[in-house]
Amino acid sequence: MSHTQPVAVVTGASSGIGAASARALAAAGFHVVLGARRLDRLEQVAAETGGTAIPLDVTQDASVEAFAKAVDERLGRCDLLVNNAGGALGADPVAQADLADWQRMYDINVLGTVRVTKALLPALLASGDGQVITIGSIAGREPYKGGAGYNAAKHAEAALTRVLRLELLGQPVRVSEIDPGMVETDFSLVRFKGDQAKADAVYAGVEALTAEDVAETVAWVATRPSHVNVDQILLMPRDQAAAQVLHRRES
Ligand code: NAP
Repeated sequence: MSHTQPVAVVTGASSGIGAASARALAAAGFHVVLGARRLDRLEQVAAETGGTAIPLDVTQDASVEAFAKAVDERLGRCDLLVNNAGGALGADPVAQADLADWQRMYDINVLGTVRVTKALLPALLASGDGQVITIGSIAGREPYKGGAGYNAAKHAEAALTRVLRLELLGQPVRVSEIDPGMVETDFSLVRFKGDQAKADAVYAGVEALTAEDVAETVAWVATRPSHVNVDQILLMPRDQAAAQVLHRRES
């Protein structure tokens, strides 16, 4: 039997923007399904939101398949997919590019988004009023020095999202892209592989966006009337006018 509430699947819901989006969507009336690799953290968010935690590695075909099967068996429907799992690895110039990092970024941000979207699209279509919201980035709009690997992945993720919008025209699934600028989460700690000083330097003196700022935008996009498709949003901190143009206060 289908769940009575609309069901929103959020990938990468174990931290940052994904966890905050799950909270905002639960508050907006969705039953949230939380996917990521760290199940202990997912279960905490599930307990707070009354949601369902299901382990998910978006880089593994079998994991995505098992995840989609569990969504179908446990909830019986999917009305919204938030493709949020993603991130950057390294900030090397092209001349020193670490190809393993590039491959990993492509796998998580691009192929991961394709894998999960493909797996859940039949349920989104069957809902009669489905929606896909992909969390892109300013990095998918504007190349910056040291960003090439992540820029390439986020440009590709934006391209596939915009193609999906074209391909689903006339079918009952909306497709939206939210591109944040700098958001203070674990993003930089992951990017710099646990180097806290490097991660802190990214945000020094800048009033960055919070995960909650992006989550509010996700909930707003998700709750527009069904004939309204918000195609793209670029959401920046006031202190950031372009990828590497920042206003930093002295501490
Ligand atoms: P975060 O706190 O590091 O969260 C990243 C999330 O992705 C985690 O929940 C992580 O969960 C999940 N994830 C990573 N690899 C995964 C995999 N293989 N399978 C499933 N889940 C995976 O960073 P965030 O800032 O919230 O990032 C969320 C999204 O926003 C990303 O797409 C990022 O590119 C984008 N973004 C961030 C910023 C920023 O400045 N923070 C700006 C623009 C866009 P597990 O590790 O538990 O799997």
